[in-house]
Amino acid sequence: MSRTYQNYIDGQWMPALDGSTTTDKNPANTEEVIGVFALAGRADAARAIEAAAKVFPAWAKMPMPKRGEILHRAAALFEARADEIAEALTREEGKTLAESKGEALRGAMILRFFAGETMQPTGEIYPSASANTFLYAERVPTGVVALITPWNFPVAIPTWKVAPALAYGNTVVFKPAELTPLTAWHLVDVLEKAGLPPGVLNLLVGRGSQAGQEFVENPLVKAISFTGSNVVGARIAAQATARGAKVQLEMGGKNPVVVLADADLKQAVELTIAGAMLSTGQKCTATSRVIVQREILDEFRDRLTDRVATLKVGNGMHPDTYMGPLVSADAEQGVLNYIEIGKAEGARLVAGGVKLYGDEYDRGYFIAPTVFDRVTAEMKIAQEEIFGPVLAVMEARDFDEAVRLANHTQFGLSASVMTRDLGLALRFVREIEAGIVHVNSQTAGAEPHVPFGGFKSSSSGGREQGKVAREFFTQIKTVYIDPSGA
Ligand code: NAP
Ligand code: MG
Repeated sequence: MSRTYQNYIDGQWMPALDGSTTTDKNPANTEEVIGVFALAGRADAARAIEAAAKVFPAWAKMPMPKRGEILHRAAALFEARADEIAEALTREEGKTLAESKGEALRGAMILRFFAGETMQPTGEIYPSASANTFLYAERVPTGVVALITPWNFPVAIPTWKVAPALAYGNTVVFKPAELTPLTAWHLVDVLEKAGLPPGVLNLLVGRGSQAGQEFVENPLVKAISFTGSNVVGARIAAQATARGAKVQLEMGGKNPVVVLADADLKQAVELTIAGAMLSTGQKCTATSRVIVQREILDEFRDRLTDRVATLKVGNGMHPDTYMGPLVSADAEQGVLNYIEIGKAEGARLVAGGVKLYGDEYDRGYFIAPTVFDRVTAEMKIAQEEIFGPVLAVMEARDFDEAVRLANHTQFGLSASVMTRDLGLALRFVREIEAGIVHVNSQTAGAEPHVPFGGFKSSSSGGREQGKVAREFFTQIKTVYIDPSGA
């Protein structure tokens, strides 16, 4: 019998009002059930929102450093549980245990960072035009905030939304992706054990179209922070902003690596593969295009395909696995469809391109790491986010054409250039349309204390992570005080 997990509403762990459940399975072996989770509907979400609204005034009034103490305790508990959380992450999402461990420890760092932020200044004092006026602007909480997160970083993304939301005095309704509820459960369980009062944080495992939709429409929700696909993000933004709610969106990417003729090719190959294939290419910052200067194209492609052929694909729990499964049958089918599209568009398949079969693979969603070359700018596989282990190799005549190609998509999340020429590196940094830029590092690296987010249709509504997270999770009260009679 697998364990049953409940939703957390107003400080109580409870089943769904209509008794619905969802079963969490391992994408590396779908016979392995990870847990059965209460599946919240709209009525459950409405209840949670009311609970969060009810306790908001008290939570907002609690001294900020006191809120910080809870986050500090949660960071310690989370870190102590890192191995268990990492295993849960690998088993429900599929990424390798090493990646999961890194993400679990990062969760603890994020909690600690925002605990620290509760001791930071909360506003600014300004000079006033009137001699007696004390003029300042203070950051104050927003109210009930709704957090909607995807399955691909089910520890890091929820943590980097929940921690600042709480630190700055908001109460929270949180809906993780239905595919990854166990990691979300750990985060909420840890925060409860750290002493969070009832109602301040509510967990609803549910479908986007049900619990998620209630978040979008309920007037008690004052702000929504969403990470996920562009299609869903656009719909949420249209509906929520129409009723005056604040919206933050982190969405897709089509992140390029540009390899210039003078690059260290061995390093460029390794970093391109890490960016493209770790987490099975299911990172918003994954490398999906590598744009290579003509002089080195053949050598780069040969080295790349040789190396890709050596990557070990398998269950993420095995220590020698480089790349795990896709997260779900739908995700697997979506990637296989794009592989067919790439072939039909006339790109040349030079590695992978197939579903994997055999004892190790038959019960999971495994696709071989895939590389296309002769990919041109207007092909769908050069324009659309595939969200899987598929890399498009593109040719550029020179630096200018490489940057033009790199910028030629609707997205602008992350980008990387491989070169030893400092002048060209700095030109790339200036000319690339991306919110995160790397020189000689992979597109997917992101440290936990710095702004995170993209240009163009990758993001909107303010950056996440680090100090800048405060922008979204607070509002500003500007105060003019004239001590009358003074
Ligand atoms: P998704 O399908 O958009 O789902 C994201 C979340 O939105 C899930 O919790 C989903 O619930 C929920 N949702 C779906 N429909 C909704 C609705 N009508 N109202 C409210 N919520 C709704 O994205 P995904 O497939 O999980 O994740 C992959 C995407 O996330 C990729 O595009 C990737 O690039 C993006 N991503 C971006 C970043 C970034 O920081 N820029 C980071 C990671 C991932 P369900 O449980 O029902 O699916
Ligand atoms: Mg989804």
